[in-house]
Amino acid sequence: MSTIHTKRIGPIGGYGRPRNDVELMIREKKAERRETGGDDNKSRVGEVVGVVGGREIRAPRVARGGAVELPRTYAPQEHRERVKKIQARVREWIDLGKQTKMCTARPGWMTVSPRHAQYKKVMFTVEVDLTDILELDEDNKILRVEPSVNILQILDYLLPRGYTLPVLPELDELTVGGLVNGYGIESSSHKYGLFNDICSGFELVLPNAQLVNLGPEDPIFHTVPWSFGTVGFLTAIDLQVIPAQPYVRLKYIPVYSMRECAELWTHEQTKQVPVEFIEGMMYGPNEGVVMLGDFAEAPGPNEQVVHLNTWYKPYFYKHAKEFIDRRQEGTEVIPLRQYYQRHNRSIFWSLEDQIPVCHHWLFRLLLGWILPPRVAFLKLIESDSVTNFYEEKYVMQDFLVPLNCMLETMEICEKEIAVYPLWLCPHIMFNTGRYQGKIRAPQGTEKEGEYAHYVDVAAVGPPRVTHPFDMTKAMRTVEGYLRKVGGYQGNYSYTYQTREEYRQMFDHTLYDEVRKTTGAAEAFPESYDKVARKNQWKKQAGTR
Ligand SMILES: Cc1cc2nc3c(=O)[nH]c(=O)nc-3n(C[C@H](O)[C@H](O)[C@H](O)COP(=O)(O)OP(=O)(O)OC[C@H]3O[C@@H](n4cnc5c(N)ncnc54)[C@H](O)[C@@H]3O)c2cc1C
Repeated sequence: MSTIHTKRIGPIGGYGRPRNDVELMIREKKAERRETGGDDNKSRVGEVVGVVGGREIRAPRVARGGAVELPRTYAPQEHRERVKKIQARVREWIDLGKQTKMCTARPGWMTVSPRHAQYKKVMFTVEVDLTDILELDEDNKILRVEPSVNILQILDYLLPRGYTLPVLPELDELTVGGLVNGYGIESSSHKYGLFNDICSGFELVLPNAQLVNLGPEDPIFHTVPWSFGTVGFLTAIDLQVIPAQPYVRLKYIPVYSMRECAELWTHEQTKQVPVEFIEGMMYGPNEGVVMLGDFAEAPGPNEQVVHLNTWYKPYFYKHAKEFIDRRQEGTEVIPLRQYYQRHNRSIFWSLEDQIPVCHHWLFRLLLGWILPPRVAFLKLIESDSVTNFYEEKYVMQDFLVPLNCMLETMEICEKEIAVYPLWLCPHIMFNTGRYQGKIRAPQGTEKEGEYAHYVDVAAVGPPRVTHPFDMTKAMRTVEGYLRKVGGYQGNYSYTYQTREEYRQMFDHTLYDEVRKTTGAAEAFPESYDKVARKNQWKKQAGTR
């Protein structure tokens, strides 16, 4: 039987005292959070506090309001053994005669994506439950992680060490594997590109069960992003890290038309030396806010630190809207961790569609501390009628367009879907030279390393068009526009395109070639089959 050895960190037992080391540690963490004003940059969350059966145990994270997350086991030294099990399972698939295609065993309800992944019921599933941070190489500024590591783990690990990811998406639950195999973006993507652009290496189990380490010099490397797990099983990722500063100084600039927004945005994004973070939200065709941020070492003499995410405060998108209501620009200094998590509590603005009373001050005061609800939990308990509502009456789409199409894209969104707020996020698309993956070399680029400016216009919410809304018709209109201007659809949600149209949008040349030579075409479905709307109707499939 395994024994628990914990580091003794204070008095145990007696009335009102903690009953054991773990409880004591939890209380200390709560106290630490109070002392640091909720600023986890200053706390030591995640430190190793004990050993269970030879495995290190990290301190549990104390969430807002004192809710405690269960500790995860921390055993990076066992990575190789875990990968061997994945290889063994792939060999099993080969020995059984490759009867069906393969996919990861992660259930559809566990992902952040609205898809329910019906295909998992009929495919050969492979458990890829790899949740450890493996190594931080400070000399080369590389963080090596397993694919099921999520954003919250990365925040807890990197920020106290003075580092961050150049592109660190906003939701705690997003996983590195999902962000690499799908796509990931953040308000710094105009400097560093998409999430896959900050990756310098992938460890992958190929369909013949061979384990390979890939870098940008290898063609397979370039086919993993946007593949949705249809090239191989990803088992480790090398991510670049950069030094972080403790705060972000954020300027809020109200805008009063889409044109004004697009003009200001283009000016800021294409500056020789742009700010570190650019983000926008349009609350309607005639009101929006553009936010410009930079790292800061400390607040200035007359500046207050604003704790955005304290549980009883209004959610970030409501907070930002106050600058429009006051018709006034403003600047705030925000702890870095809280900046990254600004959309987490309200899952952008989708919380209000799930819990309509979430804005009431009493709700926030009494129950705000339990937020955000886990997306996985919400999906698990989702009833059929709610699923139908999301499938037919709720838009969740990202449209990635060349920057010069920003205004037109917002206008098309207004005409076809009228979903607000519209989220705006800048990014660049790279020419990757000899091996170009699903993203085509952007227009105007010739050599490797050159890039073009893009913007992600994201719609999450119920459509408010005045005419009767038809999801398929509206989406197909926008998709047609994207193909025309060299844009892309985010694809964590659904595509309504035909296979031919999808292939027109995403370049399949290298993808097809690699899948043929590695055997992936036989082992995995095409990415289109995972994201096509026609394959996802829950009603058709009958069950979840
Ligand atoms: C409400 C909402 C908000 C969002 N906000 C953001 C945001 O702020 N920033 C952002 O960048 N994105 C955001 N996204 C989109 C998000 O990027 C995608 O959903 C992304 O794919 C990550 O989700 P996930 O970690 O749940 O991955 P999953 O959906 O689990 O995985 C994505 C794909 O990768 C494959 N995959 C995962 N791991 C492996 C592996 N180890 N080997 C092989 N294949 C694998 C899966 O099979 C799947 O096809 C948001 C999505 C929603 C719905």
